[in-house]
Amino acid sequence: MNHLHALSIHQQALIIDGHCDTLGRVVSEGVDLACRQTEGHVDLPRLRAGGVAAQIFAVFTARPRQPTAHGPLDLALRMIDALYQQIEAHPDQLALATTVGEIEQAHSAGRLAAILGLEGGEPLGEDRRLPTAGDRPLLDRLRIFYRLGIRILGLTWSTRNALADGVFEAQTGGGLSHYGRAVVREMNRLGMVIDVAHLAPAGVRDVLALSEAPIIASHANARALCDHPRNLSDEQLEGIARNGGVVGVTFVPSFLVAAGQPTLGHLLDHVDHIVRVAGIDHVGLGSDFDGYDGDNQMPEVRDAADLPAITAGLLARGYTEAGVRQILGDNYRRVFRQVWGG
Ligand SMILES: [Zn+2]
Repeated sequence: MNHLHALSIHQQALIIDGHCDTLGRVVSEGVDLACRQTEGHVDLPRLRAGGVAAQIFAVFTARPRQPTAHGPLDLALRMIDALYQQIEAHPDQLALATTVGEIEQAHSAGRLAAILGLEGGEPLGEDRRLPTAGDRPLLDRLRIFYRLGIRILGLTWSTRNALADGVFEAQTGGGLSHYGRAVVREMNRLGMVIDVAHLAPAGVRDVLALSEAPIIASHANARALCDHPRNLSDEQLEGIARNGGVVGVTFVPSFLVAAGQPTLGHLLDHVDHIVRVAGIDHVGLGSDFDGYDGDNQMPEVRDAADLPAITAGLLARGYTEAGVRQILGDNYRRVFRQVWGG
């Protein structure tokens, strides 16, 4: 495969990365996204170099980077505000996207489209009910987060919350709580994408049975290739395919290989496997950039600027141009259009 040819296919694709933890660095380290950093994986110069059109920024509160006296709602608001401040500071480089139209607009104007995703339902609070509302939990915070621009919600991180059990609690067999089910229904009604990365298997089954809209697993790999509890079984991959959803292959070293040094070849093996089991319509990217330690990462993909290596690798393995574009972003775009509308 000709290198220049691969690069031109990469540059023509609308690339969406399903997950990064960079907002945590913005809040706790005061990182300015417009400055090329020497540490971490993501900033605007490197996203541009990597050809990224849209980046999902996780608002993650289950395990704060710094001890805080404030709760998850406070931290979530601070992270959302941090992104808004970055957009205000760099309006020529960065724009919030809440629709696929806005992703495409930002991309054609040369701006990175920032998509807000809540990772873990902790900021939604406990199952609160009014005495007059019978068994209906209050969903006020969910609706307010939607109005703030949150378009994706991962129900749990790996631990348990009021909505469901995360993968660390898989031994309990616990799925969605009553409250979690109410949240899923309201997300369907609002048009918010449900993310099942980190959710325990019983919860994934519940979401697949309950959701009327396609879901995503924004950053997870294939369990058949790497037996990590965060990875998805073939049965789960098939379920997400039937649901019309997307699995974002992730670069987290311990999700690529059980031991040793992961390489781009391992990432491509996960893509191949998910394509075999779920189909080409159901694979995307979910780097988890800035969410893992870089010491043992793939040498070919050290940060966002290295994403063209994935396109070259896919083409070398015989994927068609259309297939590559699907994996790089078109599959997410289909799901987002379907769920968000517009
Ligand atoms: Zn995560």
